[in-house]
Amino acid sequence: MSKQELQWNLNDIIARGKFDDFTKTFEKNILKLGDYCKALSPAMPEESFRQMMSFTERLKEDVNRLGAYGSLWMSVDINSQDAMLYKSRAQDLMVSHTQALMPITQWLMGKPVEGLRRLDDTNAQRLFKAVPDLEYVLDHQRRGAVHTLEQDVEKVMARKKVTGADPLNEIYNLVSDGFEYRFKPKGKKEKVFKTQSQVRAYFYSSSPAERQAAYQALFQPYRENISKFYVIYQALSKDWDQDAKDRNFVSPIAMRNFYNQVPDKAIETLLQVSADNAGIYQEYFRLKARLLGIKKLRRYDIYAPLEKQRTSMPFDRAKALVLDIFKEFSPGLAQNARQIFEAGHIDTHPRPGKEAGAFCAMITPKTTPYILLNYTGDNSSVMTMAHELGHGAHDLYASAHSVTPAETTLPLAETASTTAEMLVFERLLSQTKSDREKRAMLLEKIGDSYATVMRQAYFVKFEVAAHQLLLQGAKESQLSDLYLKMLKEQLGSSVDVADEFRYEWAYIAHIFKTPFYCYAYNFGELLSMALYARYKKEGRSFVPKIEKILSYGGSQSPELILQQVGIDMCSASFWQGSYDVVRGWLEELKRLSK
Ligand SMILES: [Zn+2]
Repeated sequence: MSKQELQWNLNDIIARGKFDDFTKTFEKNILKLGDYCKALSPAMPEESFRQMMSFTERLKEDVNRLGAYGSLWMSVDINSQDAMLYKSRAQDLMVSHTQALMPITQWLMGKPVEGLRRLDDTNAQRLFKAVPDLEYVLDHQRRGAVHTLEQDVEKVMARKKVTGADPLNEIYNLVSDGFEYRFKPKGKKEKVFKTQSQVRAYFYSSSPAERQAAYQALFQPYRENISKFYVIYQALSKDWDQDAKDRNFVSPIAMRNFYNQVPDKAIETLLQVSADNAGIYQEYFRLKARLLGIKKLRRYDIYAPLEKQRTSMPFDRAKALVLDIFKEFSPGLAQNARQIFEAGHIDTHPRPGKEAGAFCAMITPKTTPYILLNYTGDNSSVMTMAHELGHGAHDLYASAHSVTPAETTLPLAETASTTAEMLVFERLLSQTKSDREKRAMLLEKIGDSYATVMRQAYFVKFEVAAHQLLLQGAKESQLSDLYLKMLKEQLGSSVDVADEFRYEWAYIAHIFKTPFYCYAYNFGELLSMALYARYKKEGRSFVPKIEKILSYGGSQSPELILQQVGIDMCSASFWQGSYDVVRGWLEELKRLSK
């Protein structure tokens, strides 16, 4: 272990050696839920309701502790038998907890529960008001009841999923898991790969022939099996659409929007503004072609590498830099980030048996969040550190709430992390002296934003059109035509798109498994970039507004939280702000490339 390397200490989740005691108490508390349930009545006094809610919230903290303990341990020691055992014991306990809580949840939603009088709207309002911190969460849950069907029908729906959508998705996996990828760059010997990640690694190859061969190898088996994928997708898409209709949603995508707690109008606007800004990336691809010394990019080339970063930053210097940048933005942000280091809740460097990537885990508002990094010293790992510390700081801003409303909703989940990452990116950029290195940083940043923002928006646009087309009885060829047409629309004349990309839709597992979900990746990031754009425009006076958003956690609807600081998430000009940030990077890149 190098002297800069930090490993986290999980004792603050459950103290070492106390797991058995913890579970015993937890099991007793689960039994108490039954007593609380028996006492439920629409006329119950507000004080009793408050007591019950505070009990269920405390129990949820224990659930989170149980769930986090084994799984965080496993993430740094994948082969630990102890961690595996704790994890599976926790899973069993969590199932009993969900079952015991179920009648209470159903009752709160206004559904009939055996032995209890149904909770009417008037009394629901009265009781929910007694717990202001939880009012929004409870209301949202209850609104979901409008989209819930009668118990008998729900039972059939649940069975239909087990015998319909679930096995279809398993068949999707079975078909694609068996694929072999025949990678044959021009003039070289053929290699056969068994996994997609081996093939995808060549998307970033410096050889044009290898990049082309990688995509051809990837799509060939999808092409050979396209009729299978078509049958699976057609059934899943119709199944989703029928569910959305039965559950009273105005459109198939509206069902996803409701789960994500965002208004339909915001998503419509986001997709439209994204399409309107496709030109930014088209210009970027033209510039990239010039920098690569080729006339025009092929779709195979969009992730082609240009320059490699040579400098590396020691961890301690990166930490000091990040905290310094945070402090300049707001002392509160820096203090929250520092708390994570001081608590010993961060695991910083890669080592054998540790999970790849990075994450931040919020456990309870009373516990300092935990952060996992795999720091290597390049720019992108400095930005990842800032990103995850941003998440952790966000959780601490919201820690005055009880556990459920402390959890940020999906649309606002990236607010602090993206802001932190942007601050650090812009500082690193301004500190870099060599124009070549600056150019490489900007190329990478805009390239990343293409992959996480524009590409995902177009997946969702394709899905909206595909669901409609399938309802009209479209054939596979029409679906693939539609995909290719939309891809060409997205890339314009800046990139040549080969015909095999028409089968790409079959390779995007998300559109099968979680319809319309792809926008969720870019939604939070775009929203945060738009907020960052406002900060750049309005300066320091906007900082308290961002901090106010953070301290709400998930205690209000994302729409209302933004309204509080004067932002309308359904307005096109708000979303345009985030593309203006990308446009700014592009202009800087153009200047450096003259
Ligand atoms: Zn994040």
